[in-house]
Amino acid sequence: MIERVRSLNDRPLNRQGQFVLYWAQMNRRARYNHALAHAIDLANANGTPLLVYEGLTCAYPYANDRLHTFILEGVPDNAQDFRALGAGYLFHLRRRPSDPNNALFLLAERAAAVVTDDYPTFVSTRWNPSAAAKVTCPYWVVDSSCIVPMQKHAKREYAAYTIRPKIHKLLPQYLQPFTMPRLDQVWSGPLPLAELHTEVAAPDIPALVASCEIDHAIPPSLSYRGGAQVAAQHLNHFVTKNLTRYAEGRNEPSEHATSNMSPYLHFGHISALDLALTVRDAALAQNGSADEYLEELIVRRELAFNYARWVERPDTMCNLPDWAKKTLREHSVDPRQPSYTREQFEHAATHDDLWNACQKEMLLRGKIHGYYRMYWGKKIIEWSPTCQHALETMVYLHDRYALDGRDPNTYTNILWCFGLHDRPWNERPVFGQIRWMSLDGMKRKTDVSAYLKEIEFLERTGKDPFRLP
Ligand SMILES: Cc1cc2nc3c(=O)[nH]c(=O)nc-3n(C[C@H](O)[C@H](O)[C@H](O)COP(=O)(O)OP(=O)(O)OC[C@H]3O[C@@H](n4cnc5c(N)ncnc54)[C@H](O)[C@@H]3O)c2cc1C
Repeated sequence: MIERVRSLNDRPLNRQGQFVLYWAQMNRRARYNHALAHAIDLANANGTPLLVYEGLTCAYPYANDRLHTFILEGVPDNAQDFRALGAGYLFHLRRRPSDPNNALFLLAERAAAVVTDDYPTFVSTRWNPSAAAKVTCPYWVVDSSCIVPMQKHAKREYAAYTIRPKIHKLLPQYLQPFTMPRLDQVWSGPLPLAELHTEVAAPDIPALVASCEIDHAIPPSLSYRGGAQVAAQHLNHFVTKNLTRYAEGRNEPSEHATSNMSPYLHFGHISALDLALTVRDAALAQNGSADEYLEELIVRRELAFNYARWVERPDTMCNLPDWAKKTLREHSVDPRQPSYTREQFEHAATHDDLWNACQKEMLLRGKIHGYYRMYWGKKIIEWSPTCQHALETMVYLHDRYALDGRDPNTYTNILWCFGLHDRPWNERPVFGQIRWMSLDGMKRKTDVSAYLKEIEFLERTGKDPFRLP
């Protein structure tokens, strides 16, 4: 556990503190949560109860109906689960930029210590150091995102083949069931600053979202609802219906053989450790293999966290390997034909029906199938005026529309399209030695027409037949 925990300030414990405060910032769940476990241990050691604070502000970048709805859908599960652990639970919805932005600090003033999530991208990288400097009690961040703690990798890894043996060596130690400690003191009585709390019930969510000053142009996903219970439903669907088909079918989008866990992992509604153990055990029970799945979930995902952790700005090209920077520079003047604006990409208005369908999947579902997502990224490079334009378009579309965007996986995989964690391939225009992907390749390897029909149906009816009930 200790290798998951970092102190971000050297403040002494507040002996007058009425509770230990856990700020569920990224890992918004009560199960398999190492940060919550650390907060429980601290509360027990100091003889205080535990208060869990979960917030949703209107002021994060690209705050919109889709992201807000997904987060709010997780709140009723969290309220129930945290309370069942014996913690107090306070959910604060900051609706307007003009509303005070100080709920965390008001609670921290009364806390013995603050514990939150250690997360290497999006607002956490700014919020954590700034909050740690402002509070007067200890401020701990805990890695509950990775199976092998991020701190076990002392440097930035070059590629999957360099991190894989290290992860495999450590897995027997870390791929283990994790029991949450019990709270000695159950929360009783009213919440402190109860006026900050918003009780969320599922039927009220559309009205709550409408009451917030956010971007109302991006509707909720047609396919994915948020929350720990829906995450468990998706997981159950995956292990019972798709796991045995995963190795063969994961690169055929019309097969629907993947797990769709990425939005739930991103918002922390499920833990990667919980997920990996469930899939491993299900594969054992089915006399099958979970190797391909665990390669993606653990090796590829934790390579992304390693990258995001060790670079200053994970969404910039300065982090590419030297060979990739050199080859892209050499081809920077190659003509781009056709060349599209960000708006044309955003509105799925290219000449390529498959690419447009991928973009529509992003607009409607909030995620693109992993195999076509590579094609989607590669073509943005091919059809943008410059690589910098291409990168900014991909980051913008993910940050704004993707339920699993703003994640270490987002920036790592976008940069992968430019050569990160990859190797040189045959030289060609625009790409130089960066790997290229073609429409003919997609047509050869996948059922493009089935995918086009599926996306056309989604668009026409506004209904996703693959949505879980
Ligand atoms: C241009 C581009 C952008 C991407 N953006 C994102 C993003 O914003 N968020 C995101 O989570 N993934 C992203 N990916 C990686 C991958 O496409 C998704 O993780 C995957 O499609 C999620 O669907 P799933 O949960 O059904 O995957 P499954 O195949 O069921 O995999 C299970 C889990 O393994 C992890 N995983 C799978 N593929 C990868 C990968 N290539 N790298 C790292 N981890 C992986 C994910 O956590 C995923 O949820 C991107 C890939 C590309 C090429």
